[in-house]
This record gives sequence, C-alpha cells and structure tokens, in this order.
Amino acid sequence: MTTKTELSYRASELRDLINKYNYQYYSIDKPEVTDSEYDRLFNELKQLELAAPELLTSDSPTQRVGGQALDKFSQITHALPMLSLDNVFDADEFKAFDQRVRDWINSTETQTYAAEPKLDGLAISIRYEQGLLVQAATRGDGAVGEDVTVNVRTIPTVPLKLLGDNIPNVVEIRGEIFIPKQGFDQLNQAQIAADKKPFVNPRNAAAGSLRQLDSKITASRPLAIYCYGIGEVIGITAPESHSAAMKQLEQWGCRISPELQLVKGVQGALDYITYLGKKRDSLPYDIDGVVFKVDNVALQQRLGFVARAPRWAIAHKFPAQEEMTVVEDIEIQVGRTGALTPVARLRPVFVGGVTVSNATLHNEDEIRRKDVRVGDTVIVRRAGDVIPEVVQIVPSKRPDNSIEFVMPSLCPICESDVERVDGEAKARCSGGLYCGAQRKEAIKHFASRKALDIDGLGDKIVEQLVDAELIKDAADLFHLTVSQLASLERMGEKSAENLVNALQMAKQTKFARFLYALGIREVGEATARSLASYFLTLDALKQANEEALIDIEDVGPIVAHHIVTFFEQAHNREVIERLISAGISWPKEQKLESSSELNGKTLVLTGTLEKLSRSEAKEKLLALGAKVAGSVSKKTDFVVAGRDAGSKLTKAETLGITVVDETTLIAWLN
Ligand code: NAD
Repeated sequence: MTTKTELSYRASELRDLINKYNYQYYSIDKPEVTDSEYDRLFNELKQLELAAPELLTSDSPTQRVGGQALDKFSQITHALPMLSLDNVFDADEFKAFDQRVRDWINSTETQTYAAEPKLDGLAISIRYEQGLLVQAATRGDGAVGEDVTVNVRTIPTVPLKLLGDNIPNVVEIRGEIFIPKQGFDQLNQAQIAADKKPFVNPRNAAAGSLRQLDSKITASRPLAIYCYGIGEVIGITAPESHSAAMKQLEQWGCRISPELQLVKGVQGALDYITYLGKKRDSLPYDIDGVVFKVDNVALQQRLGFVARAPRWAIAHKFPAQEEMTVVEDIEIQVGRTGALTPVARLRPVFVGGVTVSNATLHNEDEIRRKDVRVGDTVIVRRAGDVIPEVVQIVPSKRPDNSIEFVMPSLCPICESDVERVDGEAKARCSGGLYCGAQRKEAIKHFASRKALDIDGLGDKIVEQLVDAELIKDAADLFHLTVSQLASLERMGEKSAENLVNALQMAKQTKFARFLYALGIREVGEATARSLASYFLTLDALKQANEEALIDIEDVGPIVAHHIVTFFEQAHNREVIERLISAGISWPKEQKLESSSELNGKTLVLTGTLEKLSRSEAKEKLLALGAKVAGSVSKKTDFVVAGRDAGSKLTKAETLGITVVDETTLIAWLN
C-alpha cells in the first residue's frame, strides 16, 4: 500500500518536474519532453490532488496557467485573464464534460457547442484602440504576458487596422500564432543549411520566432494567425454568442478558422472529432485536438472558470504524434549503392497511430548533430504517413556511461573501406558488387514492382539465394531451377515452379523498366523513361557521353556522370550481356508523340478513377510526354481528382492548382 508520505513525496516530485517542463516549454522555448509525457504527469498530479485534497498546494501547476513572462520583454497585464483549457482524451471524458456543463446550468437541453481546431501554436492577445493595433502580448502566466507588439506587427495575416463598421473603442482579440507545416519545413532546412539547430516542431518554431528581441528575425519567419476569441471590449455591445463573435472578427478583417462549426450535444461533438481527425494530416498546419466552447455567451458567464481554465470550454486532444522511447541499438544498413544508413532500433512505442520500432538516423552528420547514442531516451515523431524520425534526445535521461556513436570505417557486411566523398552526406562502402549487402539490394531492386516486377521474388528469398551463393547477380536469377528454389526455407515445390514461371514472364519487359532495374545511381523511373524515349536502343545509350546525356530532360551533370560510369564498368556490361542472352527483351521504343498539349506538363492522379485504372492512365499520360508525380506541389500543372479524393485534392485547392475530373482526363487522352 502506498503511504501518505509516499503520495506527498510523489506530488511534490511531480510539481517540481512539471514546473521545470513549464519553464523549458513556455519561457525558453526548449521543451525537453513530449507533450504526451507532460500530459501524463499533469494528469497524475491532478488525480493525486483529487484523491487526497490535502496534497493540493496553492502553487501547484494544476492551479495556474503554465507560462511566465520573461524579463527580457516588458510586461503587459491583460485586461481580462488569458486562460488555459482543460483536456479530455476520449468520448467518455467528453460526455462527462457535457454532463458537468448541463449540471452547472441546471439544464437537460442539448447544448450547442462551437467546435474548432486546436491549433498548435501559442496564444496571443492583440489590443486595438479605435481600430488600430496598439499592443500585443503573449499569454505569460495568464495575468501578465510579454510585450511582443513590434513582432506581431510583422505578421502579414494580423490586421494593423480593423476593417468595416462597428469598430469598438477598445477590443482585445485573442488568437493562436502558428507556423504552417510547409513554412516549418523550409525554415528548418534553412536552419540546417546555416548550421543552426532546427526547431523540434512547428509550435516550438512559432514560439521561438515570436519571442525574439529583434523583430527582423520574427519578420523573416512564416508566422500566421487564426483568431478565436475576444477579451475586453469597450464601446460596442459584445456579441451574444461565440459564433457571432467569430463573424464579427471576420468582418474586422481577422482570420478565423474555416473549420469552425456549431455542433449539437455529445453526438455532434463526437462526429466533429471524427471529421477533423480524418482531416488532420491534410491540413496545412499542425493541430493537436479540437476545442469545444459553449456557444452562448450568457451561459459561458454563468459557468465561469476554475483555477486555470474556463468551465465552458474543453480541448479534446488527438493521439500524440510525438512520444518518448529508448534507443536500444544503432545499426548500420548498407543500401544498393553502398550508402551506409544508421538506423535506431527503438523500444517499441505507439505514436501517430502505429507502433514504431525503428527510425532512420539518415547519415553521419545528422547523428552527430542530434548526438544520438545507444541508451538515450529520445523523442520520436510520426505525423501523417511521414516516416518516423528521432526529433531530439532527452539530455536529462542520458545514462552516465553512454558513448558517442562513431560511424564504422569498414563496411559491417563485407569489411571493405567506407568512404565519404566531400560534399556528400552519405558514407559509402567501397565494396561495390563484392559487398553482399549491395548485391542483395541490387537484386531486390531489379525484381521490384516498378522494375522487372518479378512476382513472388520477395526480399527474404533474394537474401537466402545470395547467402546460399545460388546467385551473385540479377542475371543468375534466370538460370535458377525449380529444385534449387525448392531447397530454400519455406519454399515448396509449387511456389518454386511459380517463381520460375514468373521469371520467364518477367523477361518480356519495357526498355525503361529494364534501365530502371539496372539500378544506376540516381536513375529513377522518370529518368529511365526519358533515357528510353530519347535513345530508343540500349546500344545508343551505352555509347552516349556525358555531354549528350545532359541534353535530356531530368539529367544533370551528376546523373550523366553516374550513367557513363555505370556503362564503363566491365562487370556491369557483362551482367547486361548475360541478361540479354538469358532472353530479356522489350518492344522497340517509338519516338514520343510530342504534339500533345500535355507534353511536358506535370499531373497528379488522386482518388479512385472509375473508367481507367491508375496505371493505364499513367501509361497513357507518359506516352503523351506528360509527367505523373506522386505529390502535389507548386510545380503541378493539373490534379486529376477521382472519387473520394482526399489530402492531395485539398492541397491542390490550397495551392490554387487546376483540378479536373476523370471525364476531362479521358477527353484529353483521346
Ligand atoms: P493547451 O495548449 O492544452 O490549451 C490552451 C491553449 O490552446 C490556449 O492557450 C490557446 O493557445 C490554444 N488554442 C488553440 N486553439 C484554440 C482555440 N480554437 N480556442 C482556444 N484556445 C486555443 O494548454 P496550455 O496551458 O497552453 O498548455 C498545456 C499543454 O502544453 C500541455 O497539455 C502540453 O501539451 C503542452 N506542454 C508541454 C510541455 C513540454 O515540456 N512538452 C510543457 C508544458 C506544456
């Protein structure tokens, strides 16, 4: 049984930890732990205080708004306090919130809530007098914030003067300052290029950017605002509902979230959570949940607030996209081109909707910059379908005996020297096709879907075949016999026969696929297609020099050099000859039809196409000289949206790219 002294000790320990994390997060913008870890500790303290009220101290972080105004800024007392929000994490907790609201106002009626995204940035209060921006303050401890007026003035989406009529003598507009995802990526690339520390996440970048003493730095950062409330207002009748206040803000020229909706009761709220949860990854900014507010202001006033948060609002948090775990090992993977990639083997952790047990550490510079070591506790981030990454280590949790990670000087697979060419991020094994790892990867690539598409030749089989020395290169595949294959682990006679048949079938291919399958460095699908349609024959390509290659779209000097070097290697030429004599062939290439208006255009296909398969549409577009890209960017000319198109369509709309339907596409193709 836990004694009172132990509980009291734990409560005091939690208070100290949370205060330390508050300082790191709010005051110096250097969070050391994830929000989910913080929320767990915060909830633990709340539960302890609830179970044993004598543990509740007036200075407990559960009783106060987390931040504190720093002395480096002058301080501003808010006319009305800026509160925090209480959190719920599931439907039951939301139901309990709704019940509390109705109990407090003594009502059995279904409540109307204003629902809006919980933006992950930092709160700001902007004071307008006679419609002119006169002051802007951070939340600070809720009562006193930091004067960041000059910095806020640099944010393009913050109006310096309110528009329209009904301008009050004084109004405090409350909102969230944030950095959109795209701006965040660009900012971090620039930080790394300038040898500066990248930001942990968009929220941290927004906070660090706003709280600068030099407003020129703030001006250079891609900050934006969504407004979500009004504080003090003098000189006009205050709006009677939150939704009316939002309309008023819009009329004054303030940006409000386009996702704002009124919802009815628990079911309406839960539906909205599902709706926004699905949309989360495709929104151009980070959100960490949904905020629900009782819409009626008179009811809000009756409900009032407790300690640090109003009773009339609640934040429903989404599952965390950042979690903490431990690096159990760092392994080196050797890729097809010999590139060495350090990979962190992690204690499995549930983050961003999946269990993550590996994360790439990219390369030597990255690992050194983050100083990740075996035994370290790290923050792992997985947002959307982006591959998981180690964001940073948690310094205070580093074991005493930890050792700095050093990249090996010999390849862990074949013990050839590891080389790092100046200007390249990757270290490479110099073993070439002598290196078993490179051979395996080269053969896996050769068999992959976009290359020769050899059905049934999975990674595990390739590994066994190379380990058993049944094959040394891709050409050997075509001499494998059923009995050789049947001797492999978990491979029956029938599967072996099927694989031999699949190998036969794969011999009929396309020139571009064959070129892609060869695995020439930096020759991806698109480049392979350009090479095929330009040179038409393998002999012509083999004889091309770098100058001739540079003439082709998609091919720059580096790729040209890789292509020439590839064909210069005797062993590569020999493998190609053996592949051809094994029977690999392709139909003669035709010169591209370049009169099509789609020639040179970049399209993205998204959603379900009903009349054409995606691969058919792609082949036809490529034949007309168009490019088919996998993601929408400013370079996209058209997005073809089929049924149930999702995030790519949203992105196209955000970027103002022309969207067409399947019927238009078919008309273009005919
Ligand atoms: P909060 O972020 O949970 O909720 C309140 C804040 O939400 C408001 O101040 C406002 O800035 C913001 N917000 C976003 N959209 C809003 C909307 N539509 N309407 C109203 N408000 C909106 O609370 P908090 O007190 O700012 O911070 C507590 C949270 O911060 C914790 O739950 C944790 O996630 C994080 N935190 C993390 C650390 C750490 O070390 N990692 C430390 C302290 C706090």
